[in-house]
Amino acid sequence: MHADTYRHRGMRRALVEELRRKGIRDERVLAAVGLVPRHLFFDAAFQPHAYQDKAFPIGEGQTISQPYTVAYQTELLQLRPTDRVLEIGTGSGYQCCVLLELTPHVFSIEYNQVLFARTARRLADMGRAPHLFCGDGSLGLPQHAPFDKILVTAGAPVLPRPLLRQLRVGGALIIPVGDETSQRMLRVVRESEEEFSRQELEEFRFVPLLGQAGWGQAG
Ligand code: SAM
Repeated sequence: MHADTYRHRGMRRALVEELRRKGIRDERVLAAVGLVPRHLFFDAAFQPHAYQDKAFPIGEGQTISQPYTVAYQTELLQLRPTDRVLEIGTGSGYQCCVLLELTPHVFSIEYNQVLFARTARRLADMGRAPHLFCGDGSLGLPQHAPFDKILVTAGAPVLPRPLLRQLRVGGALIIPVGDETSQRMLRVVRESEEEFSRQELEEFRFVPLLGQAGWGQAG
């Protein structure tokens, strides 16, 4: 079912206004949220709730992030249309489609094979064409580095070194870092080959970043 009706568009406009009230300021990010039909990334049972500002289950113990979180992280990326951006944690593919509204150069990697296959099919059906990969995104995508921006949509225990190394000088990594219960959003900028600066922002609660430079293997 690919219908995007007048009613859906109305609910999306209301969601955009809610995000604006909650502090999202970048009009390009708000416009991107207004364009992506979030209900198409949900299982049928949750579709009626798609325009609430909440995270929802997408299967495999994972979630589609809350729209506020998606907008907040996207705003921090300060994407330019020429930027190459890497997303770690494709999940439902929703964030990936928001990024595609801002740059055509989107790379996204998902660890869970079931989610990867489902989301790759969904995005192809929707006619969206990011570069999708299945594997341990805590190690980045060295074969496609460097990236202007890297976005991690799962909570890491520490800053993954491979991701820092794959940033272009002047580029930024947006990543929640903390323990299992809460993580601080960090914006890390690569100032030179060897120097990084970091800004500590709001607290969030994400599912864990698995893998070698994350919390380790699943289960
Ligand atoms: N961005 C997603 C969306 O728009 O639906 C939401 C992401 S969900 C909060 C976090 C995702 O990160 C999950 O799909 C999970 O399987 C994935 N993940 C966890 N560890 C990973 C890793 N090491 N590499 C790639 N993906 C990972």
